[in-house]
Amino acid sequence: MNLEIMRRIKFCAGHRLHQHGGKCEFFHGHNYVADFFVTSNDVDSVGRVIDFAELKSRFEGWLDEHWDHGFILNQADENGLSAIKMVEPCKYYQLPYNPTAENMARYLLEVVCPKLLGDTDVTATCVRIWETEASFAEARLQSATSLVAAVAPEAVGVR
Ligand SMILES: [Zn+2]
Repeated sequence: MNLEIMRRIKFCAGHRLHQHGGKCEFFHGHNYVADFFVTSNDVDSVGRVIDFAELKSRFEGWLDEHWDHGFILNQADENGLSAIKMVEPCKYYQLPYNPTAENMARYLLEVVCPKLLGDTDVTATCVRIWETEASFAEARLQSATSLVAAVAPEAVGVR
């Protein structure tokens, strides 16, 4: 039996897409929604996969500390990083790739979730990042780690 639950966390962040060539290359921001899906093969003695409050404190705690009201930039974006470092106070986070919704979901699933859930009996199998109400990207663990991206057609170009 595979049981899955989801906890939604909202946050605001700025970003830009390095070498995008269009308007997403400008500094701008989004009201993001992150959906964290975790699974377990069984429930605990209470009947839960895990307490939703546990997921909230872990995921929201990490996002508050690192991404919320900060800037998320590609570590290769030297110009963007040097610009954001001039602001005081400044809060930014470097990703090893462009901060698209796809890559943000992948980073949360592959890097952050294993750290945050390491002492629990659950595994994060999917992270969905909503960049607008019309578009999300999803990273999902399958038998082998892979990335599945879904973007609503009408949203192409508004990232
Ligand atoms: Zn954007």
